[in-house]
Amino acid sequence: MIYLDHNATTRPCPEAIEEMQDALRTLWANPSSTHTAGQAARGALADARTRVARFLGCQGTELVFTSGATEANHMAVLGGLALGRTRGRTRLVLSCIEHPAMLALAQRLRAEGTIVDLIPVQADGSLDLAAAERLIGADVALVSVMGANNETGVCMPLAALEQLAHAVGALMHVDATQLAGRSEQRFDASGADLWSISAHKLHGPKGVGALVVRKGLSLPALLCGRQERQRRGGTENLPGILGFAAAAERASLTLAADLLHLQDLQARLERGLLALSPQVQVYGRSCQRLPNTSCLRFGLLDADRVLARLERAGVLASSGAACSAGGTQPSHVLLAMGESPERAKAAIRLSTGRDTRAEDIEQVIAAVTGALLPLLADEALAAA
Ligand code: PMP
Repeated sequence: MIYLDHNATTRPCPEAIEEMQDALRTLWANPSSTHTAGQAARGALADARTRVARFLGCQGTELVFTSGATEANHMAVLGGLALGRTRGRTRLVLSCIEHPAMLALAQRLRAEGTIVDLIPVQADGSLDLAAAERLIGADVALVSVMGANNETGVCMPLAALEQLAHAVGALMHVDATQLAGRSEQRFDASGADLWSISAHKLHGPKGVGALVVRKGLSLPALLCGRQERQRRGGTENLPGILGFAAAAERASLTLAADLLHLQDLQARLERGLLALSPQVQVYGRSCQRLPNTSCLRFGLLDADRVLARLERAGVLASSGAACSAGGTQPSHVLLAMGESPERAKAAIRLSTGRDTRAEDIEQVIAAVTGALLPLLADEALAAA
């Protein structure tokens, strides 16, 4: 099987697995215990914090370990709003293509009375900066935008947004989940105040991530308790945190080479697929994008059908569509780009990783040729 769903999750790397297994066997004491076993766990936790901080470009004291990016995002938004309220700022500004969990939080906040504004995107998936400029005003507590979209891979203009936010005294949060291991962008080179990350997009384990909170910002906790310097209660997930540290260290060792490799794979994949038929469309091609993500459409062939055929041909991928009780809903990202529901329901995402090989891409193109070209030819005939 060729796994092209790295934006959903990545395979844990051997370094992470080994360190986690070791931690489960030998470092199972509570890092808060004062005895020697607890102190050993505490030492390993401090060490992991330094290693993850080095990867992200922040100080260890700025790092709050969480259960993943969803929790980090919630902490950033709810904490950012709470801080804003103390300064008379009440409005929240997000992009309209944020992760579904973030949009669900925005919906709940709206129902509770918070004013939430969503920055629109343009047809190519890039953020509408002119609209952002109009929306980011003096009553804004927090601007929260993803570093790159998980469906299209399109990168957001973080530097410009940070400037806009800071010009009016608002805080800036970046959901950097999809940037890790796919971009050289780091917290220290950004102007962000808050930065979310998840280990499982980086060949680390699921259920662990972090929020970077810029030094000097007294962001309130989401989960009260004494751990993480009173910023995140709950006994630390030490095996997960150590797996995260191992994955981060491994990723930084080869990041430059990995990025070149991913760029080469993306060029091969898109060139190969576009050459097959004029009915193939790649989204956001003219934008700055993650090198591992290709969101595309084969005519109007339904994504579920395309994915089933690809899987039979040995390729695992995803669509941005959300399944709910009422059936499959087209992706909110493609709808926001102005695509019709019919076209949006045809979009699939192929996302590569550092273990993907050039031969895999050749096989994917062969799989599309065998499994999808006949259907595309039928579609073209029917339309003629
Ligand atoms: N934000 C983005 C942009 C994501 O892609 C994801 C994972 N799909 C998340 C947040 C949620 O991360 P986690 O699974 O660690 O909660």
